[in-house]
Amino acid sequence: MGEPYDVIIVGSGAGGAAVAYKLVRGGKRVLLLEKGTTLPRDRSTLDVKQVFREGRFKNKEQWVDGYNKVFVPGEYYNVGGKTKWYGAALLRFAPHEFEADPDHQCLGWPFGYDELAAYYDEAEQLLHVNCFENEPELQSLLDGIIAADAAWKAQSLPLGLKREILNDEEEAKHFDGYASACGYKSDAERNLIEPLLQAPNFTLLTDKQAIAFIYDVADAAAITGVVCADGASYKAGAVVLAAGAMTSPRILQDHLAVTGLDRSLPSAVLVGANFKFHVNSALLGFSRFKNPDVLRKTAILFNDKFPHSTVQCLGWIDGDILGTQLPAAVPKFVASALGERAIGFFVTTEDGSDPDNRIVSCGQAGLPLMNYDLRRLKPADKEHRRLVRAFMSRLIRAGLIGVDRYIGMAGTAHALGTLVTGTDPQASVIDGDGKVHGMRGLYVGDGSALPRSSRVNPALTIYAWGLRLGEHLARQPA
Ligand SMILES: Cc1cc2nc3c(=O)[nH]c(=O)nc-3n(C[C@H](O)[C@H](O)[C@H](O)COP(=O)(O)OP(=O)(O)OC[C@H]3O[C@@H](n4cnc5c(N)ncnc54)[C@H](O)[C@@H]3O)c2cc1C
Repeated sequence: MGEPYDVIIVGSGAGGAAVAYKLVRGGKRVLLLEKGTTLPRDRSTLDVKQVFREGRFKNKEQWVDGYNKVFVPGEYYNVGGKTKWYGAALLRFAPHEFEADPDHQCLGWPFGYDELAAYYDEAEQLLHVNCFENEPELQSLLDGIIAADAAWKAQSLPLGLKREILNDEEEAKHFDGYASACGYKSDAERNLIEPLLQAPNFTLLTDKQAIAFIYDVADAAAITGVVCADGASYKAGAVVLAAGAMTSPRILQDHLAVTGLDRSLPSAVLVGANFKFHVNSALLGFSRFKNPDVLRKTAILFNDKFPHSTVQCLGWIDGDILGTQLPAAVPKFVASALGERAIGFFVTTEDGSDPDNRIVSCGQAGLPLMNYDLRRLKPADKEHRRLVRAFMSRLIRAGLIGVDRYIGMAGTAHALGTLVTGTDPQASVIDGDGKVHGMRGLYVGDGSALPRSSRVNPALTIYAWGLRLGEHLARQPA
């Protein structure tokens, strides 16, 4: 027998965990390397102070933006990646969102929706996706909005939540942006990695930051393993990059630069390019009355006048949560009074692809660079502004006082598309099976692969992409 592993996966978020799940079930020997560690289950991950005010669990590494301004992106490095913190809104992209849409600057997928449909089915089943009834306050607001303008259509929001969450108020109020202590929320760790832990062909190593590849001495395009920051190295027949769309392209960029492949690989210039993370705004409406709803995040609104956008309900808001966003001078009792009367919405518009919107491994002062400018994406910017205005006026007509806030550069929850899949090596980085064009043994299993961000949250599509890649690699001869 040669190497101890058939496949090494770098990163245990939505994509990496899904690839691992299929490979281990398919009999391959898998090593999963994760930069972070396992989160505690002592309910500290539900605590507003530790999660939001102190940022105890968040990435602290500094980046620079396109103007060399230092900022800290909202990334999380732990087993399960960002899925431990997500709101578990698990939606499919629509069939037309697999096609190119040049007017909105959107690239197309190398295959259609049908190719991913079976993996969407499987992901929904593994993550126990289901819908919840709207609570009374939300239902009455939605009824008002739709009665006033029938162009707004409300649908139940598919959620990866167990029904038992309704019996645990603290968990029900803290699932969107928090990590469940009891496992009521489906995430990559609980639903995909934990079921593998006893398998003899699966190894999970935490606190292992992958920094470079091992490659064939005669051919830098043939990847044979991974080197970690602690000096350890691991070899395998194939490596899957799944460190997230802000990290996977940086590992590949460094390899291309060190080996000179950046001068010969046709897709080298696109590594890190086409970065997308949705145009997102949070809208808060304040009513004269207290809002007793608990779960809240149970509906999503569509409107054909805004075809690349959606409006989603946000989870629980109270004075403590609101206080983390208000200036310190605002007294606590004011924040509490506002919090009790608040209802929140997450307004999302698909951002197109521009090659200059990119992640770069080494920017000013050696910090990683996230160069993203909405002015390169005029159609998305315009639609988003129109949508925010339109929805805000709906809230006002429904009797609420509304405020909106554009979620800026640090809101990288939906980071995507820095190693896009496609058929043409001049226009994409990986092929339809996830393999890097022009290289051997190197695949991409995370949100970096997505050519479009679509108008809905991306995690279910990343899980589906990962399951499909895992199945593909499991079929390869050892
Ligand atoms: C607060 C919040 C709310 C969200 N809500 C939703 C939602 O409701 N619905 C939805 O669809 N999506 C939501 N998302 C987005 C969703 O979580 C991401 O789209 C998804 O997790 C991305 O999957 P990924 O595999 O690409 O990357 P990640 O989940 O980020 O996983 C990457 C993994 O790689 C690890 N890693 C990074 N660098 C290295 C390295 N060098 N070596 C080894 N390991 C490394 C990281 O620690 C991490 O575990 C939300 C995200 C956040 C933060």
